[in-house]
Amino acid sequence: MIYSKVCAWASGPVRMSDLLLDVGQMRDPEVRIDRTFAAGVLPTDPRMFRIAAPLRLAVVVRKDRSQFRLVGRVRTTVALACSRCLEDFALELDEPFDVLYLPRGHSGDPEERQVEDDDLSTAFYSDNVIDLGQLMQEQCYLAVPMKPLCSDGCRGLCPECGTNLNSGSCNCQHVWVDPRMAVLEQLRKDQ
Ligand SMILES: [Zn+2]
Ligand SMILES: [Zn+2]
Repeated sequence: MIYSKVCAWASGPVRMSDLLLDVGQMRDPEVRIDRTFAAGVLPTDPRMFRIAAPLRLAVVVRKDRSQFRLVGRVRTTVALACSRCLEDFALELDEPFDVLYLPRGHSGDPEERQVEDDDLSTAFYSDNVIDLGQLMQEQCYLAVPMKPLCSDGCRGLCPECGTNLNSGSCNCQHVWVDPRMAVLEQLRKDQ
């Protein structure tokens, strides 16, 4: 079960009812959940980012027979390294999501095939449990940019001596060549 995996990563005590939503107990067609989780409850790859502030989850859960649509947002702050200067910096995340949860193991279900035509993102749940930890984790990964920058104007590192050009300068001479232009230059030479 997913719970043991989540718990093994948790830095503090996490009650099952916090991260795992028992939809089997859901009687109302719509439930609103606002919860704050300690940063340590989510496993992340530290080479990509780490969660640096409590996670705030606000979600409306709508039940439609065996399907549950979760619409909301997850907010937190992550710490990650700038892809240009390699310095750690904090990035605030505020990621909206709209995910449809289907019961696992019903792939032959015509209802499910119909869902695949939609633009909604879909996920699966089993044992009447929706894993909010996994949901938040996926949203965080989606929200973190592929090439994070500490600032738009980050000057990066000197390719020659490695000096951080945001905070220092060096005497290296370098002419930056757009790699696309370099390819064009080479093509011209080859002709
Ligand atoms: Zn930077
Ligand atoms: Zn240099």
